[in-house]
Amino acid sequence: MIKYIDPVKKLIGIFEKGHPDIEAQVDFVTGIDHKKFLGETCFADDGKIYVQVSINQTMIQIVDILAHELAHVGAGPAADHGEKWQLEYDELNRRFNEEMEKEIEMEGVASE
Ligand SMILES: [Zn+2]
Repeated sequence: MIKYIDPVKKLIGIFEKGHPDIEAQVDFVTGIDHKKFLGETCFADDGKIYVQVSINQTMIQIVDILAHELAHVGAGPAADHGEKWQLEYDELNRRFNEEMEKEIEMEGVASE
């Protein structure tokens, strides 16, 4: 058995805890034009939210791009990269780092 922490799952779980009512579709894709962007959030006219994240990156970049896009999802379409978006992004990062540290501490105890 191999135990591991899935940082993407962890980040999405943190987002869902803070925003239990928001529904969005997240797709990890290849073929994004990296000169334009590495991730994108679309708020469709019917209220649906679609997120695309490029997987042609390092894992830490993928997690950061996802945090960036989830902050858009949490802040809403009008927020752009303003104060509301920044608050969402900072909070996601803060809680993600906190929970990852906790996991590593627990792993450390378990393997002793
Ligand atoms: Zn953005």
